[in-house]
Amino acid sequence: MKYVAEFRDAALARRIADNIAHDADPSRDYRFMEFCGGHTHAIARYGVADLLPANLRMIHGPGCPVCVLPIGRVDMAIRLALARGVMLCTYGDVMRVPASDGLSLLRAKARGADVRMVYSPLDALQLARAHPQREVVFFAIGFETTTPPTALALRQADQEGLENFSVLCSHVLTPAAITHILEAPEVADSSSVPIDGFVGPAHVSIVIGSRPYEGFATSYRKPVVIAGFEPLDVMQAILMLVRQVNDGRAEVENEFTRAVGREGNAFAIAAMADVFEVRASFEWRGLGQVPASALRIRERYAAFDAERRYDLAYRAVADHPQCECGAILRGTRTPTQCKLFGNVCTPETPMGSCMVSSEGACAAHYAYGRFRDIPVVAA
Ligand code: SF4
Repeated sequence: MKYVAEFRDAALARRIADNIAHDADPSRDYRFMEFCGGHTHAIARYGVADLLPANLRMIHGPGCPVCVLPIGRVDMAIRLALARGVMLCTYGDVMRVPASDGLSLLRAKARGADVRMVYSPLDALQLARAHPQREVVFFAIGFETTTPPTALALRQADQEGLENFSVLCSHVLTPAAITHILEAPEVADSSSVPIDGFVGPAHVSIVIGSRPYEGFATSYRKPVVIAGFEPLDVMQAILMLVRQVNDGRAEVENEFTRAVGREGNAFAIAAMADVFEVRASFEWRGLGQVPASALRIRERYAAFDAERRYDLAYRAVADHPQCECGAILRGTRTPTQCKLFGNVCTPETPMGSCMVSSEGACAAHYAYGRFRDIPVVAA
């Protein structure tokens, strides 16, 4: 298949691995964070970590939309479905996220709630058209990748005057999360979890472009290389990061030139700006409250905002006390350092969100079991 097989070529992978081993300075360590769960998955699935020199470690970042969804937001959706009787539509992964009182959306469905899995917000729109007597709520989650479709669905609902459709908006923003990680005390303190650079997300960057990362290079002196999700993409990005670090450079480089440009997708950016505005603060699972890191629906589309429509209030809920998702999402722990990993917590019985999503670090470790663990200095 074009643009897939050639990015999984074993001989090329060995050549890039040789170049990384050749260029990596044995007198120092390299620690790069792959922000995105798609990269975590590729690194685990293709054994990329096994091809890296011992002094180069990859740290998993919080770029898995299901993993960073706080319990309190899932509780809001469950309350809507169970207590308010709405038809609650969302993506498949979200349905399994453990919430309060032993519930998840899937378990709420087993109790009689009308919870439906959809592939797109347009599916939810179609359900609203088909069931005019029902209230249909789309539980929207994800980074800038899934935000434009939600924006277009809201515009479409507005144009059609659909009165039984609304959105519970939980979309979050990538650059704000990277800023938060760089400013976290345990990361800023280089004796704890040094991060020498970032592998930047692919599909988010198709939407927002490479420009929003430039501040990380100029203000924080952290190299960023935007990479695709195939193993050779990730390995090439790692090589580019090693070379930046060796040269003392901190730049935004783009390995994923076949899809990402500096300015992004102007149509998608305009649609998002039309429908959404930035929230003052938003809770991320694992990161806590992060300023200016999420979106809410603008007043112009208030009629389609489930939070306003149902007068929903957010209540923060603590994670399972032994779940290390928070530390994993901040890059300070690894999945196997969690006592519940692989025994109590498995993909069939997930205790935390990092095991629910196939992009989560715990699920990747469990599925492929090939990661070398990163020695972590306790925060
Ligand atoms: S293994 Fe399970 S309980 Fe432990 S950090 Fe991962 S998701 Fe949380």
